[in-house]
Amino acid sequence: MAEKLTPDLCVIGAGAAGLSLAAAAATLGVPVVLVEKGRLGGEHLNTGCVPSKAMIAAGNRAEAMRAAAPFGVKSTTPTIEFDEVNDHIHRVISAVAPNDAKERIAGFGVRVIEGEARFLDGKTVVVGPEPDIKFEIKARRFVIATGSRPIVPTISGIEQVPYLTNENAFETRERPKHLKTRWGETPNKEWCTTNSAWFIATWVPAARPRHTSNRPSQTGSRIKLSR
Ligand SMILES: Cc1cc2nc3c(=O)[nH]c(=O)nc-3n(C[C@H](O)[C@H](O)[C@H](O)COP(=O)(O)OP(=O)(O)OC[C@H]3O[C@@H](n4cnc5c(N)ncnc54)[C@H](O)[C@@H]3O)c2cc1C
Repeated sequence: MAEKLTPDLCVIGAGAAGLSLAAAAATLGVPVVLVEKGRLGGEHLNTGCVPSKAMIAAGNRAEAMRAAAPFGVKSTTPTIEFDEVNDHIHRVISAVAPNDAKERIAGFGVRVIEGEARFLDGKTVVVGPEPDIKFEIKARRFVIATGSRPIVPTISGIEQVPYLTNENAFETRERPKHLKTRWGETPNKEWCTTNSAWFIATWVPAARPRHTSNRPSQTGSRIKLSR
């Protein structure tokens, strides 16, 4: 038997947008239900901002070792332990995760439900597969904060290539020998400059040269433009 809920606000998606909205509304005294089908924190915490900044921080350390000479410090070529860089990335995610944890968000007064939300009709969202619907939510307002997903471009033969998107890139524990990237804006630029810090040969499409503008000059010199 489904539990019936009638909050003022039902937010679908606990990424950066859904979490902040739900917490802010609850703090103002609004009854809020937040539904998340995957990991709380969404892209920001798990596959976007946080892991990419952790990776950049590691890349900056490597680059500083190579480029220390102008400061009167002997430059050296760092040894990159790629799996340990990955451990560092996941330690940073774990350190930030409590901010987005279910317990913390519930502490603001938000009812957090884990599961996939779907609309039954214009006024009802349900969670749980038929016939085992766990929750039936009739809210005064619904907010759809379900974010986005990477698209895989239609490139002939791509099925044979072990391609990465932001959803699996931060799980890579083995250092790839080379990377070729497709468009994207800031995340792609970060990805290229940081990976070149590991001496991975990195190509970006020349058709979008702005990807490489304001890159760190040292790492940027190892990035190749391609067509
Ligand atoms: C590599 C990279 C680096 C980035 N760096 C930055 C940066 O430095 N600064 C910056 O501002 N932005 C950055 N971004 C962008 C930023 O991560 C996103 O803009 C932001 O996280 C999007 O948040 P969101 O809440 O809209 O969506 P998401 O974080 O995608 O959250 C949506 C949530 O909805 C859930 N969901 C989807 N469908 C359902 C359903 N039916 N039922 C229940 N739950 C559902 C998903 O599981 C997900 O958790 C970066 C992105 C990437 C990829």
